[in-house]
Amino acid sequence: MLVSIVYCTKRPGGIDILFGGLKNQKDQDYELIIVDELADTRRDTVSTFADALKLTDKIVFHGKSKKKSYPPRPFGMANALNTGFLEVHGDPVIILTDFVYVEPNLVTHTKEWSSQILTHAIITVAAPQDQIDTRALIDNTATTIFTAPFLGNPIKNDWKILSMVPSSKEMVGWFDLACGSIPKPVLENLNGVDEQLDLGDDCHEINIRDRALLGGTRIGVDMDSYVQAIDHRRFSTESAWTRSPKNTNIPRWNVLYQAIMAGYYPVRPPFNNFCLRCNRKIPCLHESPYIQELSIGSSH
Ligand SMILES: [Zn+2]
Repeated sequence: MLVSIVYCTKRPGGIDILFGGLKNQKDQDYELIIVDELADTRRDTVSTFADALKLTDKIVFHGKSKKKSYPPRPFGMANALNTGFLEVHGDPVIILTDFVYVEPNLVTHTKEWSSQILTHAIITVAAPQDQIDTRALIDNTATTIFTAPFLGNPIKNDWKILSMVPSSKEMVGWFDLACGSIPKPVLENLNGVDEQLDLGDDCHEINIRDRALLGGTRIGVDMDSYVQAIDHRRFSTESAWTRSPKNTNIPRWNVLYQAIMAGYYPVRPPFNNFCLRCNRKIPCLHESPYIQELSIGSSH
């Protein structure tokens, strides 16, 4: 069973942490699709680094150029994820955001839970300030932001723990896809993430969860294979490293969520002009039943 990992990034560094976690996987039967906003400047340094770690044959490297659209639309996280989804050969599909360290059992656990949406507990850690190379924070060729590539386990290297989620009280309803996996047939049915959310920041993955739930997909939290998220917001106050509260998608997500719950929202987002089921980068004539019809078992 080949597992596909879709990794989206727009920031310098992070590649060392990613490669370190993947190099240590007990199960090496995966492919890695990197969708990189810095592809134009970083392609060569990432390739050289992958060569050095003997990871090259696992990697598909991508700039963000899935399609041209008219009128032009923002190229944010949803578009990046969908670009990666169009490239996957495996099932299930793991989503990884940048600056996360994954435990060696990630691929193993993903296979064990392959029929459902799986999300992982998150421990947020702080990188030691004296190991950060501040010049790398503005270097669009950088594969690491540290004075030397970091390939280890942050907690085992005594990095400070800032928070852990979910705590037991937060278990019900907790969901985050900083690291998580989705069965490929579910992704195809939902036709990826709704690109309307690229008008702002965040809430992209929870949109997949909302639509998948009504289609009957089970959701689980893996507490035994957590991820370590490196708190990149403390590296710099530049916009690439922080998130603007005024751009949040929370109101936009809530409108979509209400529409989904009321049964007025198509299973396949109406503005996604590609088809994961046909693997075509153009719109197709696949029918788009409404969530309510799907959940009551319509003829589609
Ligand atoms: Zn199609």
